[in-house]
Amino acid sequence: MNEAGKRSLLLSDKVQYLPGVGPRRAQSLGRLGVETAGDLLDYLPARHEQQECRTIENLDEGMVATIIGEITAISARRSRQGPTVSATLTDNTGRCSIRWFNGAWIMDRIERGSVIRATGTVREYRQLPQLVNPRFVVVGSDAEPVDESEPMRFEGVYPATAELSSRVIGRLIASNLDWMLPLVEEWYPPAHLKQRELPPRRWALSAMHRPQRDGDVAQARRRLAYDELLLMQLAMTLWRHHRHSGVKSPALACSAEIDRRIRRRFPFPLTPAQNNAIQAIAPDLARTRPMNRLLQGDVGCGKTVVALYAALVSVANRCQVAIMAPTELLAEQHHRSIEQYLADSRVRYGLLVGGMPAAQRREMLVRIESGEMDIVVGTHALIQKDVTFAKLGLVVVDEQHRFGVRQRATIRSKALAPHYLVMTATPIPRTLAMTVFGDLNVTTIDAMPPGRVGIETRVTGPMHHDAAWRFVRSRLEAGEQAYVVYPLVDESDKMQIRAATTEYERLSRQVFAGQRVGLLHGRMNTVDREAVMADFTAGRIAVLVATTVIEVGIDVANATCMVIEHAERYGLSQLHQLRGRVGRGNRRGYCFLMTDSPGAMQNERLSALAATTDGFKIAEEDLRLRGPGEMLGTRQHGLPELRVADLLKDGELLRLAQQDAGEIVRADPQLRSPDHKVLRSILSTKYREAIGLMDVG
Ligand code: ADP
Ligand code: MG
Repeated sequence: MNEAGKRSLLLSDKVQYLPGVGPRRAQSLGRLGVETAGDLLDYLPARHEQQECRTIENLDEGMVATIIGEITAISARRSRQGPTVSATLTDNTGRCSIRWFNGAWIMDRIERGSVIRATGTVREYRQLPQLVNPRFVVVGSDAEPVDESEPMRFEGVYPATAELSSRVIGRLIASNLDWMLPLVEEWYPPAHLKQRELPPRRWALSAMHRPQRDGDVAQARRRLAYDELLLMQLAMTLWRHHRHSGVKSPALACSAEIDRRIRRRFPFPLTPAQNNAIQAIAPDLARTRPMNRLLQGDVGCGKTVVALYAALVSVANRCQVAIMAPTELLAEQHHRSIEQYLADSRVRYGLLVGGMPAAQRREMLVRIESGEMDIVVGTHALIQKDVTFAKLGLVVVDEQHRFGVRQRATIRSKALAPHYLVMTATPIPRTLAMTVFGDLNVTTIDAMPPGRVGIETRVTGPMHHDAAWRFVRSRLEAGEQAYVVYPLVDESDKMQIRAATTEYERLSRQVFAGQRVGLLHGRMNTVDREAVMADFTAGRIAVLVATTVIEVGIDVANATCMVIEHAERYGLSQLHQLRGRVGRGNRRGYCFLMTDSPGAMQNERLSALAATTDGFKIAEEDLRLRGPGEMLGTRQHGLPELRVADLLKDGELLRLAQQDAGEIVRADPQLRSPDHKVLRSILSTKYREAIGLMDVG
């Protein structure tokens, strides 16, 4: 069993030294995140296939079955991918055809008269059952015929890659399982397992890899999902618990006088929803305990105004504000709105973007560090890189629909720690908010400013493109403006920029001949981009052809139409963001989701989008279609991916885990008790950052 020689194997050993693994396989396993034996044990099947022993006459199409019989015919035919081997397998009840593609090695293993036990998915081929590329073993000619009363077997299907098939992974695990399982430590005391009706972790891992009975997998899954969620909640709770102890922020008080002065800056009264948000934020700012608040609300609901209110409270208290946007374009947009509200005030504000001349940038950095700059707007990257604030009171993080869980920790201030206000336009489904932002308070702006008429959305197939363009032209003739958007996966994607550029030329010449058309993409320099935006804002450009750089924050009330080309290529939340650029004024917005494929008319995402403009519903749907990792981009942000738990289906378990994590931290904030020893050591490998805040040692 233990082939490693004298020393016993440990779960912390590198996989490379396990029986059946060498350097090459270790590398492939590494790409799946499997570095150690313990990782291999934690590498769970994505699903299980039922495998039944059947006689040939009882095979059903589509099932995974094991049959035993004699090879009564076998031949190989050359093809470009290597020989294709065809065979006939016969038992007492009938004949089954077998085919192996690329089966050069088969002919060395079996011949006419061999008796084999073969397992595969059953298809029908020329009135005979057929197995394609079945797994098999050669058994003696005296092998027992299959016994159909033998209990059903389940086989794990592991997430695989081209270099490592599920079968190879399964074999590796199977051949190491017997020594690994006894080394698995239990995470909780027996009383806890009993109270939560959870099976032991060792049993759960064994049952996932090698289920014995119907129902094993479900029970095992529940246990392992609970473990994942508990760990995540524990990290979150510890983070919150320890972050708040000791760290102090400046108290930013807001008097009636300050409130009055700030409100005078806005050309409209704030909506009740905005006032509610301010009422939640203001007391937080006034405390020395750092605020950590998520301000969520659909695109265009007026978050920026609320954030600016908070910023001005900070400035009134002689503390600086950093406003961090996900893109330069959005930073510029924020800077423009600040300009509009603060033009004749004494507040000193500035923009920090990548395209700035070096000298100007240096001067800006000096002014930030000396405290001469009150409000700095820039991108996440820029503000964090080499900027030190003299006295930072508040950081506004405009995430739009990207979330930077980790980024928040890294901004520098000489004085006290700042308060944080994170804005997001993707309303986050409750379960998800609880998981990912467990340490944030959430404020929701749930109503739009008055006078919004709404947006009409159409999925537009190839037959209706012309009609859509005609409609857009009619809006232009009425003096309104339009966006035409091209997919762009990221801003450096040259091909897409070329597509937008080509299309821009085509549209200017044909569809919108006689209108002024502008082009905007992420590769343009700041000056050109600013010029195009200024022209569009002032109405000098009627149609803006753009890559998805416009997705965030652009605010031109006279723009009523949006045409999104190749809409099927975007994610749901992204489409919703894009669409939020129109219908912002008091005129109806129109959004055409264009697709070239007639099939896309049935596209789930597109129909979901056409059916509602409710950001919450769309977010739920997006979570269902894409899963949380992708929706939040959490993978880049240090949140371990959930492998077993499903945030949509495991809401109940999540609540349990949250409650239990709370109890653990309340009772034992350093996880010093012997009951928490295992949890502590697991946390320190999986959630090092959260633990970093604890007094480790
Ligand atoms: P968000 O940041 O949530 O997308 P903004 O703060 O950019 O929304 O506001 C969207 C638009 O609504 C802007 O044009 C803004 O001037 C306008 N707006 C914001 N608050 C109000 C209000 N209370 N009354 C009228 N218009 C408002
Ligand atoms: Mg905005």
